[in-house]
Amino acid sequence: MRTINVAEVTAAVARAVQAINFHTPAPVLAQLKDVWALEPSPAGKLALQDIVENRQVATERQVPMCQDTGMAVVFVRLGQDVHLEGGDLRAAIAAGVRQGYQEGYLRKSVVAEPLFDRRNTGDNTPPVIHFDLVPGDQLRLTVAAKGFGAENMSRVKVLTPANRLENVKREVLSVVQDAGPNACPPIVVGVGLGGTLEMAALLAKRALMREVGERHPDPRYAAFELELLDLVNRTGIGPQGWGGVNTALDVRIETYPTHIAAVPLAINLDCHLQRHMEIVI
Ligand code: SF4
Repeated sequence: MRTINVAEVTAAVARAVQAINFHTPAPVLAQLKDVWALEPSPAGKLALQDIVENRQVATERQVPMCQDTGMAVVFVRLGQDVHLEGGDLRAAIAAGVRQGYQEGYLRKSVVAEPLFDRRNTGDNTPPVIHFDLVPGDQLRLTVAAKGFGAENMSRVKVLTPANRLENVKREVLSVVQDAGPNACPPIVVGVGLGGTLEMAALLAKRALMREVGERHPDPRYAAFELELLDLVNRTGIGPQGWGGVNTALDVRIETYPTHIAAVPLAINLDCHLQRHMEIVI
């Protein structure tokens, strides 16, 4: 049994929400530079140049890459052999989000309830937290700052198994085309397939947390990811919707067993920022 004080979690989350808003990981920057070099559309190329320069400036000056600094989403994988002390883990994560958004002067974008007065909570809490219990004595947190230009254009649908491959292609393309420039392309398309309605949505979000270049372990799904990426990039939407062949940087599929009667499908879009990082305590 290993003991972790939740104060450590608060401090790590506070650092993480700032880091993901200011700093671009090397593989993400390299991927953006690659597509910039290969984009044939002059307007699309210009958009990618702005995106790359903006990210370099944000890192150098330690300022946010975008005015939308996101809603914090945290995936927690808690080892069964961890003993937590010092308070409530959920509260400690929220305290880290509060501290990080205040210290980093990041925009506070969370409202207390969705329908009526929509009062801003003033500190970007609460975060959305997903808990998972896993073997081991480590606490792993994936911290993301989800931009809502892309979140707004996402979709959940339960399909029947008939014509499933074609129907998944049709839905993915329909979501990307409806999103157009609103999701701030080049986007990453997270596809959740299987489970139940809510599981599909969670799988799609998890897909967005993958690292650059990581494919589905099943070669059939890995090939389908690349096929969907090709289809999406043939839409011509291009970087920032200015036209071109780089509408998406990647399509990532996460899967789970499901019922004989259905193909639960969720499509969660992420903008080119791809703001997330993993913390291991
Ligand atoms: S979707 Fe992403 S790039 Fe677009 S405004 Fe929101 S955070 Fe910024």
